[in-house]
Amino acid sequence: MIGLIFDMDGVIYRGNKPADGAKELIEYLKERGVPFIFLTNNSTRDPSMYREKLLSMGIDVEEERIVTSGLATKLYMEKHFFPGKIFVIGGPGLHREMKRLGWGVVGLEEARKGGWKEVEYVVAGLDPELTYEKLKYGTLAIRKGAKFIGTNPDTTYPAEEGLYPGAGAIIAALKAATDVEPTIIGKPHEPAYEVALEKLGEVDEVWMVGDRLDTDILFAKRFGMKGILVLTGVSSLKDVEETGITPDLVLPTLKELLEYLKTMEEES
Ligand SMILES: [Mg+2]
Repeated sequence: MIGLIFDMDGVIYRGNKPADGAKELIEYLKERGVPFIFLTNNSTRDPSMYREKLLSMGIDVEEERIVTSGLATKLYMEKHFFPGKIFVIGGPGLHREMKRLGWGVVGLEEARKGGWKEVEYVVAGLDPELTYEKLKYGTLAIRKGAKFIGTNPDTTYPAEEGLYPGAGAIIAALKAATDVEPTIIGKPHEPAYEVALEKLGEVDEVWMVGDRLDTDILFAKRFGMKGILVLTGVSSLKDVEETGITPDLVLPTLKELLEYLKTMEEES
């Protein structure tokens, strides 16, 4: 049995608009009991917030199928690290996930009173309310020996006016100030693969469907998944030629992926 991992932004929707064929494809997979999950490098929202967003577009997906880089960070830390206090630089989604760990989150107020000295993990993601002070306490804690974890490597993300600074840009600032190499959780890194595979369960083959060559398709190539690029998001056919990251399959939209799956079903 195949299992599918879908990136979300640029694949399932763009902004607040569902992508062509997304709804039909998801219904098809659910009806046939094909294992699938959503895996996004975004950590600003949590899975329940994404479920709401998807529902508002008519796409009904259980919360359990949604993995954000914030949730992946939580699951990975739970499995591999010992409990310890956390300092978070990130949006509401990441803050929620870190609180759910139950290890204790040191807030800014506490950090100001010297609480940063007790921090054992600095977890950084995209923080739309980033301040110098947050970077300062993150830096102090890492320099004192706290483990440095980054939710995802994306240095930018596409927004209306152009490219905005992403989590990777914030992580880079901490890296520059500390000379410490972070553990990065999101695509195309190994922790995301480990968490995704565990969620997917027993499958013989994994298909990774994404819109970005440098994260989604590189991720697929690194871990022996079939990399399917849809041209509804960031990367174009021209990028395929220029980057040398070659998908196994390039499809204009999810509609063609649904056709492809239907043909496979008929042939088997
Ligand atoms: Mg995307």
